[in-house]
Amino acid sequence: MKRRDFLKTGTIGITAPSVIFGDLKINTNKNDPIILSTWEHGLPANDAAWKTLQNGGNAMAAAEAGARVPEADPKSTSVGFGGLPDEKGNVTLDACVMDSTGNAGSVAFLQNIKHPVSVARKVMEDTKHVMLVGEGARQFAVAQGFEEMNLLTEESRAAWEKWTKKRREMTPHETHDTISVLVQDKNGDLAGACTTSGWAYKLYGRVGDSPIIGAGLFVDNEIGCAAATGLGEEVIKTTGSFLVVELMRQGYDPTTACEEALNRVIKRHNGNPDFQIAYIAIRKDGKIGSACIKWSFEYALARGGANKLHKIKGMI
Ligand code: ASP
Repeated sequence: MKRRDFLKTGTIGITAPSVIFGDLKINTNKNDPIILSTWEHGLPANDAAWKTLQNGGNAMAAAEAGARVPEADPKSTSVGFGGLPDEKGNVTLDACVMDSTGNAGSVAFLQNIKHPVSVARKVMEDTKHVMLVGEGARQFAVAQGFEEMNLLTEESRAAWEKWTKKRREMTPHETHDTISVLVQDKNGDLAGACTTSGWAYKLYGRVGDSPIIGAGLFVDNEIGCAAATGLGEEVIKTTGSFLVVELMRQGYDPTTACEEALNRVIKRHNGNPDFQIAYIAIRKDGKIGSACIKWSFEYALARGGANKLHKIKGMI
């Protein structure tokens, strides 16, 4: 049974979008931390992020701590350890982070390292680069003390072996669920993290949107932050998360900004794409938003002591 089949949360719509064109001054939300994550695995991710904030960690530390939870969980078959492999049976991972200063780090096509999000943070903090890929990223991780391990579990190997018998192309909606974690800390600062094993049974060497700054994740500490899940190729082609933040800069409400970014994709596919993309966003004033193309999408929101899963309906 797929993970989504277990979801039982009631539908909680996000408040109707209100556009504030022309209002470029966005007040900072302070003292009311917010953690917003994708999918059901966002709930335990939010818990870990919340603890990090309580222990004095900032938004970046909290986003990383949150993303590490599904990375380590073999039951999350779309992230880290236990993530479904590519067509050759290799688990290849993509991740990125971005902090409140506009600094960013990323790894793509990384193998045998359980916590790509932490390697991405090391790239950001300990190198002059933004992105390391493949063997170079692995060597960097090992040099930084990350342990190497086989990320294919019994279950993910069995699923892949079963798939090799028919080699049916999986739809993205069936097989991939990135964890993206957006955080606003008590100072009002924003940061985000994004990590995934990507599209199951993808071509060897495929990299999605999740390690691409501006596509899978974007943070602008003056305006807001946004992150994506879903078909990465289409998120990359529309520079999705950057677009959501830029639309908020122009005065769009967070949900309207997510919808407008998705409208670009929907239009490119003649009004009826056969795949899913969802965005989550936090505006600097603490307003959150989300939208998805079709079916439904769940985001986990931790705020004011509560951590809950919210379900939204697709735009088409
Ligand atoms: N966006 C990810 C990718 O395309 C996967 C997902 O979020 O489901 O690799």
